[in-house]
Amino acid sequence: APAQSRQAEEQRIKVCVRKRPLTCAESRRGEADVVTTTGGECVIVHEVKEAVDLSQYILQHKFYFDQVFGEESSNKEVYQQTAYPLVQHIGKVTCFAYGQTGAGKTHTMLGSPAIPGLYALAVQDIFAHLSATHSYQLVFVSFFEIYCGQLYDLLDHRKRLFAREDGQRVVHISGLRDVRVDSVSSLLEVISRGTAERTQGMSGVNPLSSRSHALLQIQLRDSNQQIAGRMWFVDLAGSERASDTKEPDRQSRMEGAEINQSLLALKECIRSLDQEQSHTPFRQSKLTQVLKDSFVGDSMTCMIANISPGHTATEHTLNTLRYADRVK
Ligand code: ADP
Ligand code: MG
Repeated sequence: APAQSRQAEEQRIKVCVRKRPLTCAESRRGEADVVTTTGGECVIVHEVKEAVDLSQYILQHKFYFDQVFGEESSNKEVYQQTAYPLVQHIGKVTCFAYGQTGAGKTHTMLGSPAIPGLYALAVQDIFAHLSATHSYQLVFVSFFEIYCGQLYDLLDHRKRLFAREDGQRVVHISGLRDVRVDSVSSLLEVISRGTAERTQGMSGVNPLSSRSHALLQIQLRDSNQQIAGRMWFVDLAGSERASDTKEPDRQSRMEGAEINQSLLALKECIRSLDQEQSHTPFRQSKLTQVLKDSFVGDSMTCMIANISPGHTATEHTLNTLRYADRVK
């Protein structure tokens, strides 16, 4: 692509990779770190293969992205390079955390009290910006989950929600609760209430958080309730669910198929941001339908593909990198 359009494109879609460190438990059970990050844009996965004579050899898989974060990168650093430029632009902005369960999506998005994630860092900057510009805009958040194609309000006792398209083809989620927040701590309080709903919602072998997408929306509204900007943060369902076709029970297979469908639709929708006149297949999943606004017009998108370093995760890690590679 010519340099100029390439530059514009880079601003609209940014695809990054984040490798997390080995956990203590992984180190203890002898997990080997098979992922190398170099030069800020390159990631290499060293895959151990077995030859016909049973000797082992190593296959190197090299990928390039807009940015690659190594295990030493902090949430702050990831934020500076991913969501921060979007926060500056606050118009129509969407940020996704993609990856296998345990790869660090929630650590990146939510973090912990000691290590705030993108949600808190973004809202902190939004408040700083509003006060620096003496703006009267108000900040509202909503938080819901998509599980098996159905929406549940995490700020309203998992109330079932429905998305509808109006005559102007704008998608609305009727009854979605939004809560005004006036500080970072009030945001975190609201989010922790929602997160509790997420984990208590259902019992099963796999935690619900690995089987559902969590969508946090931050809206800026002016004094007559007009929306002046909005930002989505999406903590996606574990991508391994999409490829596990060997699931034992019917429910798990259904969940897997649903997640597969939504992640494929998401990839197509983000890709179509580049191709001005093409048809965006946002109706192919509930996830892309509710995010429709993110795939049209002057919206900006950032994807953070989270990967685990361990050798037993190699296959999922490669799947994640291939997916992220195709998004670009
Ligand atoms: P996911 O949401 O993708 O399932 P989590 O964010 O819950 O994964 O991460 C799994 C575990 O790894 C958690 O204990 C988390 O604290 C830890 N972890 C993830 N990313 C990092 C990181 N960059 N640095 C340190 N620990 C991390
Ligand atoms: Mg998680």
